[in-house]
Amino acid sequence: MRLATAEINLTALATNLARIKQIAPNSKVMAVLKANAYGHGLVTIAQHLQGADAFAVARIDEALALRAGGLTKPIVLLEGFFEASDLPILLANNFETIIHDEHQLAALEQANLDAPIATWLKIDTGMHRLGIEPEQLEQFYSRLKATQNAKQDVRLMTHFPCADDTKNNKTLSQIQHFSKLVGDKIEQICLANSAGIIAWPDSHGDWIRPGLMLYGVSPMLDSVGSDHGLSAVMSLKTRVIAKRSIPAGERVGYGGRWQSQEATQLAVVAMGYGDGYPRHAQEGTPVVINGKRYGIVGSVSMDMITVDIGAENDSVQVGDEVEMWGENLPVEKVAQCAGTIPYELLCNVTPRVSYQYI
Ligand code: PLP
Repeated sequence: MRLATAEINLTALATNLARIKQIAPNSKVMAVLKANAYGHGLVTIAQHLQGADAFAVARIDEALALRAGGLTKPIVLLEGFFEASDLPILLANNFETIIHDEHQLAALEQANLDAPIATWLKIDTGMHRLGIEPEQLEQFYSRLKATQNAKQDVRLMTHFPCADDTKNNKTLSQIQHFSKLVGDKIEQICLANSAGIIAWPDSHGDWIRPGLMLYGVSPMLDSVGSDHGLSAVMSLKTRVIAKRSIPAGERVGYGGRWQSQEATQLAVVAMGYGDGYPRHAQEGTPVVINGKRYGIVGSVSMDMITVDIGAENDSVQVGDEVEMWGENLPVEKVAQCAGTIPYELLCNVTPRVSYQYI
């Protein structure tokens, strides 16, 4: 029996998708499933997103895994393709590609394909990661329209770097800039990630691209999923494998970084960075045992964590279930205590953890 378990609540996934559609009722949903569906299990998550209109992944391998899993919906490659030899794979599997750079457009123009590929032209309106310069739009757009290797409806996309911060006007300027660039082109547009969906209604175009919020987690700086009507999909759980008493003044764990101020009891919990729990989770990062929150103490090791349960605690016993994050403890909170973002925690769950879909 594997103690560390990621319980994946598929009902919560479905209600999150319904919630997204309620927030952006006029947009089609491109569900973002990259990085193993943010650590939730690519194919199973996709199979339970029947209501999505398309899937989006970063890499071709992820898209191929979806097809191998029997998924037939449109799949968009958010990084596009890398070299010309990828193009027949895109065509054979009916993948849609982002075009964000000259090398891709040139490869597409020069390819010898039997049929056209669906494309999304990505415009950089301020992220400065992938995307063509706004000034290149007319040139790229007309070249895509002209090549037989691209489908005629060249769709348009951009991405937000700061939509999680409602006080930052950058997102609004991006939306305005994008809409000016699109002008009277009749093609479909797609701007919003989860934060755009929640906080920037003007960004709900023909399509939205929710990732994090599908999994019940808030993308915003200062809130948790439930504040937006979302429910955690992943609950990361394990068990107490030992319980021990220590006197005052003892140092616990690697490096002896934590010292007991008074006599107390520790619950030793079977979860560590070998399972994907963050090594930098600070002292006091909460876990839930029997419905109550306790703080971790000492260094997180590869397989174990120590939790201070207090001197008088009889209620915590060996074998008790421990929730590291999930339904009763927002992953946003744990991420904050570990100096990271929930995206990273969810993606980092390792294959040693057993997945249970409920
Ligand atoms: N669109 C693009 C281009 C992305 O890279 C991502 C994720 O990083 C998303 C959409 C989904 O973002 P989120 O998970 O914040 O909804």
